[in-house]
Amino acid sequence: MSHLSEHLRQATPVVAERGEGVHLFGTDGRRYLDFTAGIGVTSTGHCHPRVVAAAQEQVATLIHGQYTTVMHQPLQKLVERLGDVLPPGLDSLFFANSGSEAVEAAMRLARQATGRPNIVVCQGGFHGRTVAAASLTTSGTKVRTGFGPLMSGVHVTPFPSTYYYNSRYGWDEEATTRFALGELDHLLQTVTDPSDTAAIMVEPVLGEGGYTPANSAFLQGLRERADRHGILLVLDEVQTGVGRTGRFWGHDHFGVRPDIIITAKGLASGFPLSGIAASDEIMAKARPGSQGGTYGGNAVACAAALATLDVVEDEGLVGNAATQGARLRSGLEDVAAKTPAIGDVRGLGLMLANEFVTDAGEPDPKTASRVQQAAVEEGLLLLTCGPWGNVVRLIPPLIVSEQQIDEGLRAWSAAV
Ligand code: PLP
Repeated sequence: MSHLSEHLRQATPVVAERGEGVHLFGTDGRRYLDFTAGIGVTSTGHCHPRVVAAAQEQVATLIHGQYTTVMHQPLQKLVERLGDVLPPGLDSLFFANSGSEAVEAAMRLARQATGRPNIVVCQGGFHGRTVAAASLTTSGTKVRTGFGPLMSGVHVTPFPSTYYYNSRYGWDEEATTRFALGELDHLLQTVTDPSDTAAIMVEPVLGEGGYTPANSAFLQGLRERADRHGILLVLDEVQTGVGRTGRFWGHDHFGVRPDIIITAKGLASGFPLSGIAASDEIMAKARPGSQGGTYGGNAVACAAALATLDVVEDEGLVGNAATQGARLRSGLEDVAAKTPAIGDVRGLGLMLANEFVTDAGEPDPKTASRVQQAAVEEGLLLLTCGPWGNVVRLIPPLIVSEQQIDEGLRAWSAAV
């Protein structure tokens, strides 16, 4: 009998029959509060009526056009619409299907635009599972092991928060930021010469790496070094974009200017769509034919993205992520205060997580996993992350209400 391959082990036993808003309904007849949002994808909730209507209408009008052959209206409209939310000057867009593909597109573009080979990434970063994206990923070994050699020209520099959150050195944020930038300078002096370095790629909040936010001083430090050496600063906003952190882009918290921005996940509420944005000057340096793909910028996905952006604006979802994120965080902090096994509560907006630790302060993936399973019993779906899998994250859809946050917190408290 055919079956799904063994390595695709499910984090929960739930088989979803249908989704509605923040809920999934299982074939077991139970209703679950989905605080995974399909790994941060269903920004407007499951099957938002406006997203459904836009997709249904588009399916009946034009499913596929392929932008290098014929242009279609949903893509043209999406390009225009994204102009309202992208940082000034990042006017030139390219679309693909997944986060990994967009990461690869950004990497290819950075190499072509600068004529330089090397990419600097941050320790703990996650950029995807295609071979090049996995080469840029250091959130854990499982994404990189067993199919090498990986792409060369990748250099890793510290990400400050991963040091102080884990309290390994007992340093504070300022000291770790100074350390991380000092290590980057050292890397640029001794390992990859700046004149060989095309890009520094970083997530505003490490996602799969453990939900650790960057800080302004660190990102400004990266910007300053990028400017000094003609390196491009690439922000991977695949998980942090489209309102997830309580601002439209994760980097809006830190006032840093990217050269290339990567988006996916929440952009189309579950339809596969990703993209990169850069200035005309940078994008013009991509060689014709080097970027593209059969399905990228699919018409139905673009229509869903347009509806998603309308819902995000009309329903004030960025503000809701900030407001409900603060409520969720405060509830999580209350639970953590009574729970020695939770060593840290962190994140931004509705991108929040709890780090589970042993009495000795070591990562405790077993307890994290037990809490995740117990939460399922309580009707709450959660995911783990982090290099050791000891971080349990809560990423509800951005439409989540105050009552649903409280319901989630009751389930969380019971599970813990
Ligand atoms: N970049 C970041 C920051 C991500 O969180 C992810 C996925 O979790 C990716 C890239 C890869 O995206 P995808 O799984 O759509 O290829």
